Amino acid sequence: MRLINFVLVLAILVSGCTSGSSGNSTPTAEDAKKFMDDVNDTLFKLGLEASQAGWVSETYITDDTSALFARANQRLIDKTAQYAKEAVRFDKVDVAPDIRRQLNILKVSLVMATPSNPKEGEELTKIAADLDATYGKGKWCEDPKKSESCLDINQISDIMRDSQDEKKLRQVWEGWHTISLPMRKEYTRFVELSNKGAKELGFADSGAMWRSKYDMSPEDFTKELDRLWTQVRPLYLKLHAYVRMKLREKYGDVVPANGPLPAHLLGNIWAQDWSNVYPLVKPANADKGYDLTSILKARKTSPVDMVKTGERFYTSIGFPSLPKTFWDRSMLVKPRDREVVCHASAWDVDNVEDLRIKMCIQPNDEDFNTIHHELGHNFYQRAYKDLPVIFRDSANDGFHEAIGDTIALSVTPEYLVKIGLLDKAPDTSRDIGLLLHKALEKIAFLPFGLLIDQWRWKVFSGEVKPEDYNKAWWDLRLKYQGVAPVSPRGEDFFDPGAKYHVPGNVPYTRYFLADILQFQFHRALAQTAGCTSMLNRCSIYQSGEAGKKLNDMLSMGLSKPWPEALDKIAGSKQMDATAILDYFKPLDAWLDEQIKGKPVGW
Ligand SMILES: [Zn+2]
Repeated sequence: MRLINFVLVLAILVSGCTSGSSGNSTPTAEDAKKFMDDVNDTLFKLGLEASQAGWVSETYITDDTSALFARANQRLIDKTAQYAKEAVRFDKVDVAPDIRRQLNILKVSLVMATPSNPKEGEELTKIAADLDATYGKGKWCEDPKKSESCLDINQISDIMRDSQDEKKLRQVWEGWHTISLPMRKEYTRFVELSNKGAKELGFADSGAMWRSKYDMSPEDFTKELDRLWTQVRPLYLKLHAYVRMKLREKYGDVVPANGPLPAHLLGNIWAQDWSNVYPLVKPANADKGYDLTSILKARKTSPVDMVKTGERFYTSIGFPSLPKTFWDRSMLVKPRDREVVCHASAWDVDNVEDLRIKMCIQPNDEDFNTIHHELGHNFYQRAYKDLPVIFRDSANDGFHEAIGDTIALSVTPEYLVKIGLLDKAPDTSRDIGLLLHKALEKIAFLPFGLLIDQWRWKVFSGEVKPEDYNKAWWDLRLKYQGVAPVSPRGEDFFDPGAKYHVPGNVPYTRYFLADILQFQFHRALAQTAGCTSMLNRCSIYQSGEAGKKLNDMLSMGLSKPWPEALDKIAGSKQMDATAILDYFKPLDAWLDEQIKGKPVGW
């Protein structure tokens, strides 16, 4: 589900020293234009080299391909960092609005700013790499003397998904949360140093720097997120109450009747996606009336056919076919003879038309949906290919993921009937199971998607002191998710570090935004397509009008503030979480029935 775009690398490091070596004469608007031309040119070339190397390193893993990629990527990062510094030169120059926007994007594209003091800069770079590596190598060993008892995150995730043994789950949950103990001291120093770098660039702290890339003030953006969460929270509370009731039936008193959910019983090590507990909470009439996986298997549908079907979705709404190179160069099946990264991703290798996906496709329901999702990235990438290189990205970082998911929401039974995979769409009375499954994934995720950066922003701003890191983490998890650990988690632990994006220093709000936006896009496009059925049964397949609206937005790339892009599809410049409520309306009513007379909240 990843998107690969090597031009706007996210993990950019920049030295905070403002440019002192740019000559004495006052720069002009003409200089600014020339500068941005040079930036666009150079980043295009370096981006191409990095993504070619990246593609090879992920589809043919060897020490050499990894080294080649690391080198090409470092060249790109260093150059971008240098340009971001130089852009400050034009802060007071009166330039064309388009150039001003390009300069601003260049300056706020940083995730981590290293302080100008070379010793501190080096220290920060090393700490960042250490934290990332500590997570990457993280393993919990039931018996430290026996290496075969050691579990990595994949094995941990499998147990969290499959086991229904409360003691085992607790042990594994506690085990995984030991891998972050060594990070605590380094993370504290990381916060100090990265804040120093951000301040040198004129930001209050690193969190304010992250929030500055949303075309509004950091304060307004924070308020916006709160508003969206308030819209959807009542539905979350119902889902929470229902899941608690069902888990209590299964696990007994370890699940309180009216308190928070135990963090280790939700089928996922971070309790961010509850769909793995579906078998425990599914309704009596959960059968959705068809099984896409069996259909695909019975028909011996090949991976290429599955992707062709996905492509047909996009051509049916007016997008041109994928280029021949897509079929020649994509990796659709797992090769027999070499190591590859199977995790699904979409690539635009030359940032023009060299579109590819990389997947190890199996004939099943999940991969069928994922194909539609990944192709969404590809069609987005192609739609903005004619813009200046720096604008070749989504309107904000939530948009890219949201687009793929929007299309996946159109993979409805009616769509499957239209493309001949299903004879007849089942009655809508079967929808509750499907909707509940989706809610366990998408509604359950929302508070988690919000709280990761709530914690980090407070940590970066100093509102949360190092001696309260863990307390603040669990306060937020309780406040937003209504999730709590079963045993005390004092400051001898560092539980945020057990989630990759914290030691990896990857901003997280984008996932919350994508989760909200996809439903808003879906509702607006379904209306355009003239769909009058329940929103969860609407598909924009074959709607040229919806396709045109979609393309109008996609082709804007990052060239305009995101509210303008949103407006193209939604007819509003404001994000709106009520589309989620519309989509899950039948489930909402069903949940009301189920939890009648039961406690809600914690
Ligand atoms: Zn994706």
